[in-house]
Amino acid sequence: MTAHALDLGLQGTQRLLAARDSSLDEHLRTLGPVPAVALCELISITEQAGLTGRGGAGFPTARKLRAVGEGRRRPVVVGNAMEGEYLSDKDRTLLARSPHLVLDGLELLGRALHAKRLILATGERIDSGPVRSAVRARRAEIDVRDMTGGFLGGQESALVSQLNRRAPVPQDPHTPVYARGVDGRPTLVVNVETLAHLALLARFGPGWFRTQGTPDDPGTFLVTLSGALRPGVQEIARGTRLGALLDGAGADRTRLSGVLLGGYHGTWLPPQAFDVALSSTGLAAYGARTGAGIVHALDSTRCPLRVSADIVTYLARQTSGQCGPCINGMPRMADTLQRLARPGADPRLVAEVARLRGLITGRGACAHPDGSARFAMSALTAFSGHVDEHLGGECHATPAD
Ligand code: SF4
Repeated sequence: MTAHALDLGLQGTQRLLAARDSSLDEHLRTLGPVPAVALCELISITEQAGLTGRGGAGFPTARKLRAVGEGRRRPVVVGNAMEGEYLSDKDRTLLARSPHLVLDGLELLGRALHAKRLILATGERIDSGPVRSAVRARRAEIDVRDMTGGFLGGQESALVSQLNRRAPVPQDPHTPVYARGVDGRPTLVVNVETLAHLALLARFGPGWFRTQGTPDDPGTFLVTLSGALRPGVQEIARGTRLGALLDGAGADRTRLSGVLLGGYHGTWLPPQAFDVALSSTGLAAYGARTGAGIVHALDSTRCPLRVSADIVTYLARQTSGQCGPCINGMPRMADTLQRLARPGADPRLVAEVARLRGLITGRGACAHPDGSARFAMSALTAFSGHVDEHLGGECHATPAD
């Protein structure tokens, strides 16, 4: 760790949300201007740090930088603050608390890539006013764009499509945005939390970044807590035990039937998994990922099958209606889960969920049906005892209608 980072009190997990206020003066007083870093150096330190995207997919950031850097035209860099995940509040919180860290990250990438344009895309639930003020205060050439689009609005190709004044729906996956994106240029789309990490990484280096987290999953990340605990956004180290997070947020573990991790394309974890480490290695045993950092604690008085069925019903309405799995499979998956959520359900519905998953997975132009089907299966796995209750004609949670 550099002496500078120590002096600033950035040795703990409070990195992204450490600023005392969101002003440019406070930002420059504590951190100074973001240094200019050449692309090859930026790729190198990002690779050494092991930084992965914090928007949900967890893709290695260095690989994205390299792919766009290899383009022959000057690229466009897009900060993604769409926050389409219904339960997520981290991007909004980060932009409100530390807007200049995000803008630093955007300008850092812009300079390293000699970008033609810098865009910050804000979703429907984010008030762009404060970040527009922050852009004006630093006289930056960053185009802040208010965007539409629900759950899928932040999907890379859907976002690029909207920026190109077309419908906010996913595009042909065979033409990746890093090759042809905004205005036909190579385009780098980076979640705003990832941008803020890059801004600190450029200042303090990969050794400092790795002082938090685990060797194979380093750094910190933002989590949005909701449900049967104290809600809010926290910054924690990768590898933090889920149970410690729940306890720290005042959850009564004995009253939880499960925790939804990662969002609506995420995974339900049953109580016996509550001490899992929130890292890629720790979660692999459950087929889970931290995704966009959503942690939703489900109170045992609520029927987990009804909650899951309602989420899949919501997801089935969020599709862009272009592909077979979303036109046919997703509504059937939602209907099957809704029927399973009623006590006295037909036992054949369990096999039907698995069959539909097989029909849906890998057949869409984007990962939406796959993620939705995976979530549905995780509900049946995590709440298998509750499924048995329903098949036996009972539900010991809130009675289903
Ligand atoms: S798979 Fe579904 S959400 Fe994705 S592009 Fe096709 S219809 Fe749209």
